[in-house]
Parts: sequence; C-alpha cells; structure tokens
Amino acid sequence: MNTIFSKRTKIVVTLGPATETPEAVKELILAGANVFRLNTSHGTMDYHREKIRMIKEVSAKMGVYVATLVDLQGPKIRIGNLKEEIEIKNGDKLVFEHAAEQKGEIIPVDYKGLADDVSKGSRILIDDGKLEVLVDEVEENRVYATVTNGGILKSRKGLNIPGSTASLDAVTPKDVDFIKFAVEEKADLIALSFVRKNEDVLLCKKYINDFDASIPVVSKLEKPDAIENLVEIISVSDAVMVARGDLGIELSPVDVPICQKLIIDEANKQRKPVIVATQMLESMINEPIPTRAESSDVANAILDGTDAVMLSGETSVGKFAIDAVKMMSKIAISTENSAFYKFDTDYELNDDIALTRQAVVFGVDKMLKYVNAKAILSFSHFGYSTRLMSKLKPSAPVIMVSDMEETCRKMALAWGVYPFCKKWDAIVDQDLLLKIDEFLINEVGLKQNDYVIITGSAPRLISGRTNFVRVHKIGT
Ligand code: ATP
Ligand code: MG
Ligand code: MG
Repeated sequence: MNTIFSKRTKIVVTLGPATETPEAVKELILAGANVFRLNTSHGTMDYHREKIRMIKEVSAKMGVYVATLVDLQGPKIRIGNLKEEIEIKNGDKLVFEHAAEQKGEIIPVDYKGLADDVSKGSRILIDDGKLEVLVDEVEENRVYATVTNGGILKSRKGLNIPGSTASLDAVTPKDVDFIKFAVEEKADLIALSFVRKNEDVLLCKKYINDFDASIPVVSKLEKPDAIENLVEIISVSDAVMVARGDLGIELSPVDVPICQKLIIDEANKQRKPVIVATQMLESMINEPIPTRAESSDVANAILDGTDAVMLSGETSVGKFAIDAVKMMSKIAISTENSAFYKFDTDYELNDDIALTRQAVVFGVDKMLKYVNAKAILSFSHFGYSTRLMSKLKPSAPVIMVSDMEETCRKMALAWGVYPFCKKWDAIVDQDLLLKIDEFLINEVGLKQNDYVIITGSAPRLISGRTNFVRVHKIGT
C-alpha cells in the first residue's frame, strides 16, 4: 500500500516566519502536516490572509486536502513591542505599564487592567512560564517587580497572573474581527482560547453564525475552570485541544499529565477529535534531534488516545521545522504499529436518529477482526459516518470518498482517514464495483485479491444515509 497511508495520527503545524513560503508549506505537507494553524496572537490580519490563501493554493496544486485553523488570541495578556530582546537576571528590578511600545526602560504590556489585577506579592509568569517576576509595588498604572526567574524577554510573549480571573471577555473585539476574517477566507476550523464554560463556546458559535457560516470550533482547554466544566464544554465543541502551555501555568506543570488523560478520555467518550499541543518537540526549535523525554511525550499522547498532535514554536520559529514534522510522523507510525496501541472502543449506541449509520460503522469495526481487510472504503457526502468510524480507531486505514471538497478538508483532524474527492453519485452495481477496483489499485495502491470493507448508501452510493456493508475482494 502507498506509504502516505502509514501515519494515522494527524499533525497540526503552526505557521510562522520559519515556514511561511510556498516551498516550506509543500515540504511540511510531504512530511505529514494535516492542519495549518495560524496564530492570530502574532502577525497582522493581512499577513494571515496572504498565508491562508497560499496554503490553499499550494495544497490544491499538490492535490491533497489540508485544513486551515484560525487560532483566536482570546483574553490573553501579552508583552508589547520591545526595542530589542532583554536579558533579565534574578534580582533585576522591572517596571511594567499598559502600552503598545517600549518607552525608555519601561516594559509595555497590552492589558489595561494589569495594575488593577495584581498587588504586592503577586506572581507574574511570562512566555509559557519560562520567566517569573514577583510584584513589589503597584503605583497608579505602573507595576514594580523583581525578577525571580530570569531569561530572555521577547516581544509579544504571553503574560499570566495565576489565580486572577482576568476580567476579560471570552471573545474579544479582536477575536470577532478574526472570526469575520476566518469566514471570509473560508478557514476550515476556528480555535477558541481560554474557554472557561460552555457559554464561551456558544458565544463564539453565535458570532460565526452571525456571519452566516458554520465553521467548527476547537475549544482550547487551558484554564482550571475548563477542567471543572469539561463534560459540558466538550459537548458543545466540535473538537478540543489540550493547550498545555497555559494549562501548566494556570494550574501547575504537575497537573498537566493527568489533565491530558482526563480530556482525551472525555473527548473520546463523546467522540470528538482531540489535539495535544505545546512543547511536544520543544528542543527541536534549536536542535536537530529531540530529547528522549520529548519523543516519549509524543508517543505517550498517542497511546493516551489522542487523534492529533501539534507543533508550535518548533514549526513557526524553529530552525528544524521540517525535521520536527518528519520526526513526529516517525514517532506516530512507530507507536501506532506497536502492540501497546489498542483501545477499548466498545461504545454504546447513543444516537437514535442515526441508528442505522451507527450500526453499520460499529459493525465494520467488529468485522476487521474476522476479515484481513487492507482498508475500509467509506463513501460519504457530509462525512458523519466517516468521522464516527475514525473515533473507533479501526485497525485498517479509512479511505473516504466524498463528492464534496469541503468534506474532504473536514477530515483533517479525523484520525486514520484519507480523503478523496470524486463525483461518483452512482447506483451501486457491477459497473461501479469495477470503477472502485480501478481506484483502489491505481490511486490507493492496493492489489488484486486484497480485501476491502466498503460502506456507503444503496441504491445511490453517496447521496443517501450510510446503510450497507460489503466485504469486497478486489477483482471479484
Ligand atoms: P498560544 O498561547 O496561542 O499558544 P504562543 O505565544 O505560545 O501563543 P505559539 O503559536 O505556541 O504562540 O508559538 C510559539 C512561539 O512562536 C510564539 O511565542 C512566537 O514567538 C512564535 N510565533 C508563532 N507564530 C508566529 C508568527 N506568525 N510570527 C512570529 N512569531 C510567531
Ligand atoms: Mg503556545
Ligand atoms: Mg495558549
């Protein structure tokens, strides 16, 4: 079988200065990238517009389906623009103020409420917690602090005040602008940062709806409140992300591993795609080889049952961006092929409206135990059945054929699914089976006499609801 069908876990890559050319995007796709994340915390709207169009153009030329994800900044406080990077050492005294640009020695922060939200003794963490300062004094709108954990301070790095629920809206005015942008540019996914409760997700969906669109929402789980309200949040989200950077600050790095498992388990129970993000191969920002702890982290997230893994700084600003994706793909393939990779997906049927579809999909998964099928061939218009199939993590790859390009791109987060777009809304008969054989041999790389399990709807293959299964031997 063609080697592109060897990696089942999906990879999300963050685009940035290290990877913003068409050549780099092509390399990223060849290395295994399925989703391109545009982080609206960095770069202008025009920058992101140019990039989203470029990604669509490059992938269309290559004939592959990748998705674009617009990641909304959300209520995140950030350092403003510095004249240059500043080395800060333990014991150094710093002054912070609400401003966009650095004035003299004063460090700009893009949040008006900073001086109100901290007091003497407050801890302020910067850059996913890499730097730490302790507040000595607050005077009018200036915050005086001493460095307790030094390092290099850079422009636009995130700033957290643990424990203080910053009185910021879940969807900021800037986010609304970027929702409009995502709709205009036909982005495939929108990520909402710092989700605290299900109403935050519903509010984001309302804005999307106001712009006459229905882009799926990925909720970024990175607040203690989100863990408390996990079940409700996942139920209104289309997918979720374990956003470990801010989660490790808002809670503690100690709590991240168990939160990761809780989130993955609940997402799997509710059959929603889940992404594990942040610092997965962090050292590859500067080094060609990851630490053993990092390669283990990627493998363990996959063994936990995640559908996708993500790269942030590794691909946006890293020196080894393409290598990081290649490395991640290799770790994924090796993990998926190991004896440790097995899941209990014996879910209850829970959807009365789509009982037939569920029965067919669950049946196919069970049949794999008895038929040595090289692939599942799933015909689908909107992709509901295929996505349900994906959440069962079947042992054979799922080749999806849809008549809609949009459905194909929607499979970007669907574990183990490889989409093809064909206008084949034909009647299921002998002629169609010949056409299917030709496709499986020429485009998928299967051989005569290989077994494939075919699902779709009959008599019309794609337009109806999934209602049949055929155990098919190619050429017979
Ligand atoms: P988030 O909290 O949303 O993850 P972040 O600041 O941690 O935001 P990442 O997307 O995780 O950002 O990327 C890691 C780092 O890569 C950023 O802190 C930033 O320095 C850099 N970066 C990412 N995207 C861009 C970009 N488009 N332009 C410039 N730098 C970028
Ligand atoms: Mg980050
Ligand atoms: Mg974040």
